[in-house]
Amino acid sequence: MCTIDDLRNAVINGITKSDAEEFMRECDFKVLARAANELTRKITGDTATVVNNVVINYSNICVAQCPICAFYRPKGHPEAYVRTPEEIAKGVLEAKARFGVTELHINGGFNPDLGIEYFEEVFRSVKRVAPDVVIKGPTAAEVDFYARVWRMSTKEVLERFKDAGLDALSGGGAEILNEEVRRVITPYKFNAETWLRIQEEAHKVGLMSNATMLYGHIEKPSHIVEHVFAIKEVQEKTHGILMFIPIKFVPWNTRLFKEGIVKGPAPAEYDIKVVAISRLILGDSIRRIALTGFRLVRGWHQHY
Ligand code: SF4
Repeated sequence: MCTIDDLRNAVINGITKSDAEEFMRECDFKVLARAANELTRKITGDTATVVNNVVINYSNICVAQCPICAFYRPKGHPEAYVRTPEEIAKGVLEAKARFGVTELHINGGFNPDLGIEYFEEVFRSVKRVAPDVVIKGPTAAEVDFYARVWRMSTKEVLERFKDAGLDALSGGGAEILNEEVRRVITPYKFNAETWLRIQEEAHKVGLMSNATMLYGHIEKPSHIVEHVFAIKEVQEKTHGILMFIPIKFVPWNTRLFKEGIVKGPAPAEYDIKVVAISRLILGDSIRRIALTGFRLVRGWHQHY
């Protein structure tokens, strides 16, 4: 049995990993939500902020072919694409004029045919036409992959991206920071330790970042707790994380779903528990916990 006072006391005394795991398992989602809401009100009052951005993927060609992914296409597939820097810059200009977006969110698959000059040209082209638009770009997973293809260090890649106009890493690729889970959901991607290292490295070279968590597949409450604590640890060292973004796994058209490993989306109560426990663990180390909504506008995603 878990009461609101148990949660309030844990917050006052500093919530531990074992507290958090127990709360995830034992607490009713409404009690967790109430405690998290009380804490959020202390941290941010009644204010909610919004980022109005456009999401443009540079390429959906990806050699990793993760079981969690419905986005990638193999090279040569009729739906595979690579967008030119000009196309991307044009998309940003259009989104800025029509919707007043202030940010470009740009990610893609692991496409070994792209060189670093391509990415530099993308960032430069966007800054040329819209210097005030913030570019949140490749995830740590992309940085790691391309660094290996280009035989460069991840630090060097981050520095060159920054010099070309990148402002922040978009925070993806974290999925769940636990190897047991990663072996099933993203077997060919880098490990959790590398994600954490690249986040820190990005902050040290002067880039900011988001931090994500993909939940609602095969993870257990202990994995959620491990993940959020790992992110809090990075933030306490670098203060470079702008927001924490729990992303609900959408199973349709993924291998995890087709092979029956995941039967469907997680229930809404679980979403609330995940967000609430994240707030209780993070406290005010990361003030913004973001939920994303989006709509498709002529082929571009507009996040809000
Ligand atoms: S690396 Fe990213 S784009 Fe590629 S398959 Fe995995 S999740 Fe999809």
